[in-house]
Amino acid sequence: MTAIKEPSFRESVDLMFNRAASLMDLPPGLEEKIRVCNATYTVRFGVRLRGEIHTFTGYRSVHSEHMEPVKGGIRYALAVNQDEVEALAALMTYKCALVETPFGGSKGGLRIDPRQYEEHELEQITRRFAYELAKRDLINPSQNVPAPDMGTGEREMAWMADQYARMNTTDINARASVTGKPLNAGGISGRVEATGRGIQYALREFFRHPEDVQKAGLSGKLDGKRIIVQGLGNVGYHAAKFLSEEDGSRIVGIIEWDGALYNPDGIDVESVHQWIVKHGGVSNYPDATHSAEGAEVLEAECDILIPAALEGVINLTNAERIKAPLIIEAANGPVTAGADEILRKKGTVIIPDMYANAGGVTVSYFEWVKNLSHIRFGRMQRRQEEARHELIVSELERLDRYLGEAWSMSPNFKAKYLRGADELELVRSGLDDTMRIAYQSMREVWHSRDDVEDLRTAAYIVAIDRVAKSYRAKGL
Ligand code: NAD
Repeated sequence: MTAIKEPSFRESVDLMFNRAASLMDLPPGLEEKIRVCNATYTVRFGVRLRGEIHTFTGYRSVHSEHMEPVKGGIRYALAVNQDEVEALAALMTYKCALVETPFGGSKGGLRIDPRQYEEHELEQITRRFAYELAKRDLINPSQNVPAPDMGTGEREMAWMADQYARMNTTDINARASVTGKPLNAGGISGRVEATGRGIQYALREFFRHPEDVQKAGLSGKLDGKRIIVQGLGNVGYHAAKFLSEEDGSRIVGIIEWDGALYNPDGIDVESVHQWIVKHGGVSNYPDATHSAEGAEVLEAECDILIPAALEGVINLTNAERIKAPLIIEAANGPVTAGADEILRKKGTVIIPDMYANAGGVTVSYFEWVKNLSHIRFGRMQRRQEEARHELIVSELERLDRYLGEAWSMSPNFKAKYLRGADELELVRSGLDDTMRIAYQSMREVWHSRDDVEDLRTAAYIVAIDRVAKSYRAKGL
């Protein structure tokens, strides 16, 4: 029997792009220009650690510069390679276009297992990597702005931004060179959980459209839906936590690197998170069944499957057995092009990565704007807004006294109405708005065209069309 070859991640992204582009009427040459990756820089650098020199390999790929700066995370993992970084950079181009953040697409990676290093060693390695990128403008507030991805977080972003600032002492916008920084280093409230929050807002928007919910063979709202999540890292943890604590969904399965937990009655996400922090994995967690073959739980019964770890986990070998009628791609590229076709034929609805996990880049955009404007959101307006609300409330109170028993304000109205929005509330409102509007732009194409079978193709069509318009407007 000849095995069907699974395309690489990069090929998968291109196949999905081609599928959408074939349904569009792009001028000759432009399609190719949009698809190709503009440049990938590979760097090898040495760092003296534990008395000897260690050599590391890193990448920064720039997919499309139709808008600048280009934007995209930096990943720390042993599996990082050029194909993966280029695929991720391409997805960033389409993602930014879909959610209307004014960036081109980029992505970076360092081939390293961060767990093997002490904090001070990681700082040395990160600063050296940042130095190599910054001196080639691959970290720069107006050219290329990294953010966190797998294996990196606030701490690494703070080191990178500081490294850029040390190399560019007169750049007043140095803080805008990197997003995903901690609050005290120029970050923004709500960035850490932004991608997980975006998953929650995406699902809420999906469930606002009964026709779409029906296409997945589901009904009702998020309340009571059984969810399996793969990867309880930044994205998976926040998504699972918010969906279970705020929307009444039941997390029945959690898949991690060391196996999976399953409990049809629901698993307490916070308690598993604390267990992982303490023990490094999910093994021996008491309140669920543990199975060593984690990936098999991807195939278990549930309503919604959230792959939030690695690419290519739903592929030609298991796609046929996936039972979830709805998959939301929290990770980048978790479903290969081959698996996508199998699932589409089965009628599985997939909310695609370029939309689903765009919460991160959306809030990164807010952070970048905050850094460039050098002022926290809401600082100028908040008290003025409260003062105007105070005027209305005092008038209502006057009415209250005048009408007596016949009318009174609801108990919490005054406290709620008087409070002006702080930065976190504004960030959430901006993110919610972005996720709703982007979903509507995809579904409009999905529902209005007979030749568009799925949300992914619709998402590509919206994104490619916007990139094409931008190239046309400015010339190549
Ligand atoms: P993370 O490093 O915080 O978490 C990844 C989690 O996956 C970890 O808990 C890890 O233990 C787990 N994991 C590793 N191997 C696994 C395996 N074989 N099976 C199951 N679980 C495994 O990374 P993250 O930032 O949450 O990113 C996850 C995905 O989301 C990636 O595809 C990333 O590109 C994407 N993403 C992240 C962001 C962001 O803001 N962090 C934004 C957009 C997309």
